[in-house]
Amino acid sequence: MNLIAFSERYPDEIICQKAFKDLRDKEEVICKKCGGTSHYWKSDKMSFECKKCKFRTSLRSGTVMEHSRLPFRYWLLAIHLMTSTKKSISVLEMQRQLGHKFYEPIWEMMHKIRLMVGKRDTNYVLEDTIELDEGFFTQVKESQEYTDKDEPKKRWRGSQNKAKVLVMTSTEPVEDYKKDEKPSKLKFVKMLVIRDLTADMIEAQVTACIDSNATVKTDGFKSYSKLKTIVAQHQEFIVPPKEACSVLPWVHTMISNAKRTFAGIHHLIKAGYMQNYLDEFCYKVNRRYFQNKLFDRLLIACIADVWYD
Ligand SMILES: [Zn+2]
Repeated sequence: MNLIAFSERYPDEIICQKAFKDLRDKEEVICKKCGGTSHYWKSDKMSFECKKCKFRTSLRSGTVMEHSRLPFRYWLLAIHLMTSTKKSISVLEMQRQLGHKFYEPIWEMMHKIRLMVGKRDTNYVLEDTIELDEGFFTQVKESQEYTDKDEPKKRWRGSQNKAKVLVMTSTEPVEDYKKDEKPSKLKFVKMLVIRDLTADMIEAQVTACIDSNATVKTDGFKSYSKLKTIVAQHQEFIVPPKEACSVLPWVHTMISNAKRTFAGIHHLIKAGYMQNYLDEFCYKVNRRYFQNKLFDRLLIACIADVWYD
């Protein structure tokens, strides 16, 4: 769906509300009070009324839009722009496109959408052959420390540090690959911010995210040494850092693509929000062949499982 198609499908706020209401009907509204699923639509109250207990559920309640005052059309356009752009879109750009006065609500809306995006892939388990490595992503940490006595007024100094990210890519081999091409095809990518790079932390993530019958490829980092006890096969490549790209090509490509996207679009990412940006990046990579379906799927995700998941 391009922008013209979007404007034709959602020309004004009333039609956006109607589309949202129809989708909620289709996805089934569940009464928060009694669990009933049959409702009357009260158009004057813009609410669903439970047939059993008369409890009212507003159009936004229970969805990603709960507590938001932004128009429905903003949400639909934001979902459209976040899914139709190849890389991503910054908050400032979104604010400009929507013509909204304030930055904060737009920032919040985009993060709520990213949270829904992240939920889609949380339980996905990677299979077959998996490349595993760690990446370090620049983030800004806010601290209250005074670093210089001569600058007492600088209360919130942003200091940059690196988020530790575990990166996993599932791949399948390609026969007859050409020179300069990778010998495998990417299937799925997962990126997780982790507190530390200890063996315990990494093993816990591998257990949760990777199928026990899989083959895992890593470099010679010591925290990977016991992975063979968790997965069927662990292939360890002890090579100089320069050659790591050739033995683990997909994780390195994904890490550098993500870093380039973040640096070019989002600039400085605050600590605590890195996972949201990684989720958005992975969601797009993992659904790179979905094209037009991406908007509808994400919209349903934003409506459907905010509570009942
Ligand atoms: Zn009820």
